[in-house]
Amino acid sequence: MPKPLTVMWFRQDLRLRDNPALLAACAAGSVLPVYILDDKHAGDWPMGAASRWWLQQSLIELDKSLKNKLWVLQGDPLELLPTLMQEQGATHINWNRCYEPWRIQRDKKLQASLTDSGFEVASYNGSLLWEPWTNLKGDQTPYKVFTPFYKNARANLPPPELPEPAPRSVPLASCEQAADKIDKLALTPEIQWYDGMAECWQPGENGAGDKLSQFLNNGIQSYKSGRDFPASQSVSRLSPHLHYGEISPRQVWHAAQAESGDTRLEGQIEHYHRELAWRDFSYSLLYHFPNLTKQNMNPRFDAFPWRQDDKLLKAWQCGATGYPLVDAGMRELWQTGYMHNRVRMVVGSFLVKNLMHHWQDGARWFWDCLVDADLPNNTCSWQWVAGCGADAAPYFRIFNPITQSSKFDPDGDYIKQFVPELAKLPAKYLHDPHSAPANVLDAAGVKLGETYPEPVVDLKQSREAALDAYQQIKVS
Ligand SMILES: Cc1cc2nc3c(=O)[nH]c(=O)nc-3n(C[C@H](O)[C@H](O)[C@H](O)COP(=O)(O)OP(=O)(O)OC[C@H]3O[C@@H](n4cnc5c(N)ncnc54)[C@H](O)[C@@H]3O)c2cc1C
Repeated sequence: MPKPLTVMWFRQDLRLRDNPALLAACAAGSVLPVYILDDKHAGDWPMGAASRWWLQQSLIELDKSLKNKLWVLQGDPLELLPTLMQEQGATHINWNRCYEPWRIQRDKKLQASLTDSGFEVASYNGSLLWEPWTNLKGDQTPYKVFTPFYKNARANLPPPELPEPAPRSVPLASCEQAADKIDKLALTPEIQWYDGMAECWQPGENGAGDKLSQFLNNGIQSYKSGRDFPASQSVSRLSPHLHYGEISPRQVWHAAQAESGDTRLEGQIEHYHRELAWRDFSYSLLYHFPNLTKQNMNPRFDAFPWRQDDKLLKAWQCGATGYPLVDAGMRELWQTGYMHNRVRMVVGSFLVKNLMHHWQDGARWFWDCLVDADLPNNTCSWQWVAGCGADAAPYFRIFNPITQSSKFDPDGDYIKQFVPELAKLPAKYLHDPHSAPANVLDAAGVKLGETYPEPVVDLKQSREAALDAYQQIKVS
C-alpha cells in the first residue's frame, strides 16, 4: 500500500519540536505543510497589526525549517483545504487544536465536511497543559476561580506530558509554490513603525528557544520576587512565542522543572508553573464561556456608567496621561509590542477606574499593539482588571500609579527608559514629577505641560467617582 499524503495544517503551533500533529503526519507517510491566513472567521477579532508583523517573521522561520516547502494560502479554510487536498492527492489532514470560540466552530464544520468527503481528520493537543474539558469541578462544571483550578489539575490530572523532539526528518511532499508566497499575505504594515519590535524580538522557534535559555540562565532564580519589577530581567517574555506555538507550554513547563535539582529554585519553579497555568485557566474560561469577549462575566457590570471621552482615551493610548508609570507602559507597548504584567495591571486599572472607560476599549488597543495578543488571555485579563471577570480583582482595588511606581520601579529605571524626557529628574520625583519643586524641574529640563503632560485626571477625585459608580451597580 502506498503511504498516505497528509496535510499538516499549521495554525498556532509554528514549530517542529513537540508538535504532536506533525509527528503523527511524519510517521504516517509524506507531509504537505500548510498555513492559511483566515481573516474571514475571526469575526470581531481579526489579528492586530503587531500580531501580523510577528506572524510574517514566524512564517519565514517555519518555512526555512521546512526547506521552503510551507504552502501558504489566504482565505476560507473550509473552501481552500478540500480543494488543495483533492488537487494534491492528500487523503489525511492533521492539526493541533485551537480553543478560540471562532476557531472551534470553524474546525468543527471543517472536520464534518472533510470526513463526509472521505478524508481522514486527526487533531491533537499541542498548545495547553490541560485541555479545558479535562479540568472540571466534581459536578463537571468549569472552575471560575484559579486556585482550585490549579490545585485540581496538580492533584488529580496527569502531569503535563513530556515534550517530544522534532521529527528526525520531515518527509516533505514535492509540491512547489512561488517564493514570494509569504509576502503575498501583506502582513507587514505599510508604515514602518515596527523597528522597535524588530530590535527586541526574534520571532520563530529558534528565538523562542533562546528566550527560554536566557530565562533559565538569568531569570528563574529571582522569578517569584522579581516578576513584579518591570525593569528587572526576571520574567521569561515567552508570551508571543507561546501564543504562536513556537514553543509549547509542555516544553517550557518541563524545562523549568529540570532546574529543580537546585533546591533553592523550587519556590521559583512552582511560581512559574502557576503563571503558566493561568494561561490554561484563561483558555478554559473562554472555552466554557465563549461570550466573554463581549459580555461581562459578572452581569451587574452591564449597568456600569462607563464613559466615552476620546481625548482621555487618546492620552492613555499615546502614553501622555501625566502619570509616568502609565505612560512608560503605554509607550513600551507601542515601541516593543510588549508590556510587563505589573504595568499591564496598572495601565488597565487606570483606564477602567480612573478614566472610567470600558474594559473593551483597553482590550481592543492591546489587541492591535501586543505581539502576544491572545484572545483568551487578553479577554480574561481585562475582565479581571475591570473587576467583572472570573476570580477578578475587586473593583474597589484601584491601583495608585504613583505608589505602584515607587514600589515596583524604585530607581525609576523603567520610567527613564520609556519616558526619557523625565530621565534627569531625581528618582524621588520620577514617580510624580508634579510634586517636584520648580528648581528641580528646571535643573532636569522638565517643563510640565510642555515637555511632559499635566495629569489628565486627579487621582483622588477620579478614584472617588469610580467608587461612586461602583456603588450604583451594587456589586456584591
Ligand atoms: C490587561 C492585561 C492584558 C493581558 N493580555 C495578554 C495577552 O493578550 N496575551 C498574553 O499572553 N498575556 C496577556 N496578559 C497576561 C500577562 O500580562 C502576560 O502573559 C505576561 O506579561 C507575559 O510576559 P512573560 O511571558 O514574560 O510572562 P511570565 O511571567 O514569564 O510567564 C510565563 C507565561 O505564563 C503565562 N502567563 C503569565 N501570567 C499570566 C496571566 N496573568 N494570565 C495568563 N497567562 C499568564 C504567559 O503565557 C507567559 O508567557 C495580560 C494581562 C493583563 C493585566
